[in-house]
Amino acid sequence: MNVAIIGGGAAGFFLAVNLKQMAPQARITIFEKSRKVLAKVAVSGGGRCNLTNSFREVTDLKQVYPRGDKLLKRLFKVFSPQMAYEWFEAHGVRLVTQEDQCVFPQSQDAQSVIFCLTRLARERHVEVLTGRGVDVLRPEKNTTGSNEPEATIGYRLVFQDGCCSESCYDYVAVTTGGSPRAEGLRYLADLGHQIASPVPSLFTFNVSQCGITALMGTVVEQVQASIPATNFKAVGPLLVTHWGMSGPAVLKLSSHGARYIAEHDYRFTVLLNWVDRTNTEAVAEEIRKSMRENGQKQLASVRLYHLPARLWSFLLERSGIAVDKRWAELSKKEINRLVNTLCSDAYAVDGKGAFRDEFVTCGGISLDSVDKQTLESKVCPGLFFAGEVLDIDGVTGGFNFQAAWTTAFVCAKSIAKKMAG
Ligand SMILES: Cc1cc2nc3c(=O)[nH]c(=O)nc-3n(C[C@H](O)[C@H](O)[C@H](O)COP(=O)(O)OP(=O)(O)OC[C@H]3O[C@@H](n4cnc5c(N)ncnc54)[C@H](O)[C@@H]3O)c2cc1C
Repeated sequence: MNVAIIGGGAAGFFLAVNLKQMAPQARITIFEKSRKVLAKVAVSGGGRCNLTNSFREVTDLKQVYPRGDKLLKRLFKVFSPQMAYEWFEAHGVRLVTQEDQCVFPQSQDAQSVIFCLTRLARERHVEVLTGRGVDVLRPEKNTTGSNEPEATIGYRLVFQDGCCSESCYDYVAVTTGGSPRAEGLRYLADLGHQIASPVPSLFTFNVSQCGITALMGTVVEQVQASIPATNFKAVGPLLVTHWGMSGPAVLKLSSHGARYIAEHDYRFTVLLNWVDRTNTEAVAEEIRKSMRENGQKQLASVRLYHLPARLWSFLLERSGIAVDKRWAELSKKEINRLVNTLCSDAYAVDGKGAFRDEFVTCGGISLDSVDKQTLESKVCPGLFFAGEVLDIDGVTGGFNFQAAWTTAFVCAKSIAKKMAG
């Protein structure tokens, strides 16, 4: 049985080495477009590869998978994050779980993951061909000559150079990762698959007005960021950059709101609650308490909620309050304005940051086009999908690789089962 895996990334390799173990008789070839396999693993997590998460702080998968949570909930029963952890340890990659629940190789080096996957592929005789970009999948039909509908018996691959594969592949898995443009998925749409139009996720925000970029380098540990009149909300550290805003709260918000933000051409309002407090009366009380305790001190010299000094002064000015004013001199109106700035501070975002640390695609092969148990295409028998090419993506923290391991494992299992008849 011939199996073609299109894409030599995390999902492609994980699928190949697991399938080979489940079905040793399978002849598996990975076709990789570029000259280098597992290129994203190499650069992931700042070169350390955050390959999964303990999920201990995840109460609802929707929090971490804005797209694909329901399917993953089902598939985690087949291959869970814990199983991924154990799999890598069993195959020689010692792991550590950080305090923030992100899991990394103990070596702190993504090469450990790459070495593990490429070694297993070699040992298990998975053929890996690089510089082999696949452009088209051509279904092969059995032409019986009868009036029966023609059944697909396999696929030939048409490469980017126009050549067609000599072999016909009984099973094909598409593991080509996120496609930033819909044209990259056209050949799959032409075969009858629905495509959720791809848009970027996990990006930073450009905020060119209002002078906040003067505070670049400022980090606030716990900020709530949201988009007004939507349910998109994220909590976490926020970093002010020289172009606008970054940090986990911003990346998470970009992930949850990816499609909405794209539809608004990356121009929208972000509302920041700098102190992550929804009870504004309690914030007002905190201000009144400071007025009582620090009445003769200047506002700039006593910061609330441990906000960084430069940010505190910036927020006072943004509230129209002089930083050298004394605490006791704050008027009722000024208290209200300060509460408002601390709890619902609106900024006009006027674009997304250029590609940086982490980036995934929202969209891809619609989950309606695949069987939810097997990840086999509903329209092309013998064709499977795993990894980011599916309309599944997560926030930062190891969730995207975990989706790749799980979907790849499920595909391997499904193909092995079909092979066994
Ligand atoms: C800079 C960066 C850092 C990241 N860090 C993390 C992290 O620490 N933790 C985490 O969980 N996620 C991280 N991610 C996301 C994670 O890398 C991806 O979600 C994951 O790699 C998806 O795996 P995949 O196998 O589906 O796709 P990919 O890893 O993208 O692999 C797809 C492969 O298919 C090849 N290909 C594409 N089209 C074709 C074609 N037509 N024919 C043949 N080959 C083709 C590509 O060249 C590529 O090698 C990061 C992403 C980036 C960009």
